[in-house]
Amino acid sequence: MNTVVYAQQSLTPSKIICIGRNYVAHAEELGNAIPAEPVIFIKPNSAISNQLYAGREEARHYEGEICFLVIKGQLAGVGFGLDVTKRKTQQRLAKVGLPWERAKAFDGAAVLSYFVNLDNTDVEELAIALLINGEVVQQGSVGMMLFKPRAILEELTRFISLEDGDIIMTGTPAGAGPIAAGDCFEGRITAGNKTLVNIAWQAIQGNPSNDR
Ligand code: ZN
Repeated sequence: MNTVVYAQQSLTPSKIICIGRNYVAHAEELGNAIPAEPVIFIKPNSAISNQLYAGREEARHYEGEICFLVIKGQLAGVGFGLDVTKRKTQQRLAKVGLPWERAKAFDGAAVLSYFVNLDNTDVEELAIALLINGEVVQQGSVGMMLFKPRAILEELTRFISLEDGDIIMTGTPAGAGPIAAGDCFEGRITAGNKTLVNIAWQAIQGNPSNDR
């Protein structure tokens, strides 16, 4: 099983719960309607990776997201994640109302940073930035989310058990796009003028061995 690092300990998420279309501008750039309730899907533990693959045949797209780590049913940690997506496959499946797993749950589809303790950080103050080769390509904040982290948590607990170490990915702001091999990705999570997470990955050509 894959693990993530939270406040110097290693935890094994049983699942990653992802929120889709949580920023109006990103929903619009994909031509999607604004949802009346959170769009929810899951990535399995096997999707977790600390390496970013650019893919081979089908382009993979990056979606930078503020991620939370759950302990005892509460938002305990925050990190930066890339919801890696095979966009063409996703659009083909979504168009006919089929599940997205082929596009969102493959090996390497959840590239995660380390997680830091939220302590007394005000969740409402959290913001995200993704830079590629030094240029800002995505920027967002909890303030811009349609469904805020606590509302998401409350919604989830109505129908799904959250285990210690489970991750919630809160959706991506505008600016998602294809991953090119060699590109340097840098993800940041901030609260006010404090940087909580700063992580970098260089995109590798190809796929993880189990994703053909
Ligand atoms: Zn996403």
